[in-house]
Amino acid sequence: MPELPEVESLRLSLEPYIVGSTFESVTVRNAKIVTSHGTKRTHDKNKQAEFETILIGKKIKSLERRAKNIIINLTSGDLLLVHLKMTGQLVFESARKLISGGHPIEESENKLPHKHTYIIFKLNNGTLYYNDVRQFGYVLYYKNKKELNDKKHFDKLGLEPFDSEFTLNYFKNEIIKYKSPIKTVLLNQKVVVGCGNIYCDEVCFASGVLPMRRCDTLSESEIKLIYKNIIEIIDKAINSGGSSIANYLLADGTRGNYADYHKVYGKKGKPCPNKKCNPKKSNSNTDEILLKSTTLSGRTTVFCPTCQI
Ligand SMILES: [Zn+2]
Repeated sequence: MPELPEVESLRLSLEPYIVGSTFESVTVRNAKIVTSHGTKRTHDKNKQAEFETILIGKKIKSLERRAKNIIINLTSGDLLLVHLKMTGQLVFESARKLISGGHPIEESENKLPHKHTYIIFKLNNGTLYYNDVRQFGYVLYYKNKKELNDKKHFDKLGLEPFDSEFTLNYFKNEIIKYKSPIKTVLLNQKVVVGCGNIYCDEVCFASGVLPMRRCDTLSESEIKLIYKNIIEIIDKAINSGGSSIANYLLADGTRGNYADYHKVYGKKGKPCPNKKCNPKKSNSNTDEILLKSTTLSGRTTVFCPTCQI
């Protein structure tokens, strides 16, 4: 599942190609995707028909991101809200360029549209496809920002890590209210958005704090380190195009390389990369301190039992 840095990378790579483009036609091949979100979705044919006609002739003004949502703003003031969820994918194809981002693309699915293509947006300069193997994602139409806000999509979300309101003071005051583990609180996105499973483990490791540490036991200096590392690690991940997970592709068809910087994620049983734990590279594993893993909030969690406390 893409995390915030991967969604931001997708937004950044689509932006130069589709901002300024005009919709020429829209075909929805699964009404559920455009009808609503959540588990009880219906195949509302009226909504589908409305979605297919309302965008025609309209122009894309900008692409925004809030947490893992992409908002496609139109010059007419209306907008589309896109959430890729587990396996959603946006692919832009033009005569000269194939731009894809989101989830894996199977070799056999390179030719578009394919059996997992659920929306085809024909633009004046190419085609934007929404593909989704498991169909948990959605693309919803809203008349304006107010209508979007009334739907409360973002109500449970905390601040963006780069928001000016996300200050150390704010973070400290919020985080100490919780008795649950730091990773659980970061994962639920209520204090700050952006730390999914990968980045939670990386932030905790960089801060020398165990993912299972109760928030109300964190010292001031630990909170400061966690705060600093959230911003730094997410920023670095966005700048590297996100992490390349399985076949996850960036919108320009390349792979994000933040995975090269992962210190603990996916490295259970490997020597701890902290020099304090393993000062020199030895050939025998006998004295090395190895990374361990556990399950926290239902997610595989990797940590160093020695330098994280
Ligand atoms: Zn260590």
